[in-house]
Amino acid sequence: MILPIVAFGDPVLRKVAEDITPEYPKLDTLLENMFETMYNAYGVGLAAPQIGLPIRLFMVDATGFAEDEELDEAQRKQLQGMKKVFINAKIVERDGEPWVFNEGCLSIPDIREDVFRPESIKIEYMDENFEKQVEEYDGLAARVIQHEYDHIEGILFTDKLSPLKRRLLKGRLANISRGRIKVDYKMRFPDAKKIR
Ligand SMILES: [Zn+2]
Repeated sequence: MILPIVAFGDPVLRKVAEDITPEYPKLDTLLENMFETMYNAYGVGLAAPQIGLPIRLFMVDATGFAEDEELDEAQRKQLQGMKKVFINAKIVERDGEPWVFNEGCLSIPDIREDVFRPESIKIEYMDENFEKQVEEYDGLAARVIQHEYDHIEGILFTDKLSPLKRRLLKGRLANISRGRIKVDYKMRFPDAKKIR
């Protein structure tokens, strides 16, 4: 089932999300629905707050990047395995020179901006079977994970832009909150006028 994606301005995107337990109701269905929602919107990642749930859960599928011939062999190999679910994740180390990449977000349609993030991370999390994993990622894989991880910390990529850039985007962001945008997937807008 495709779920509506919450748009910029909704308070749920600003919450520090809570851990869940293996007893979380209908987790399998939730994961299935989130993957379907992500693919339907051509996203490479989706975090639970983006479908309105303030829980520490996100998923990525960056396997499409593995085809990118500009990336080196090690990167492509890492990206091949990058369809993953991260539950109760905690980034325990960030390292390396920050580098820039043009990011977008399913909750902020039509806006793409250059964002700096550290090169590598070490992350502890539970996989979809609630087995503990500790892994290190770098490059594009680390990039995608850090973007989704920010969502469960209540952070959006627009927070990382310069004050000037943020000021320039203010009007467009307000329009997104009001639903005054064209978007070809289902969304929920916090400031949309209620129609009776
Ligand atoms: Zn996002």
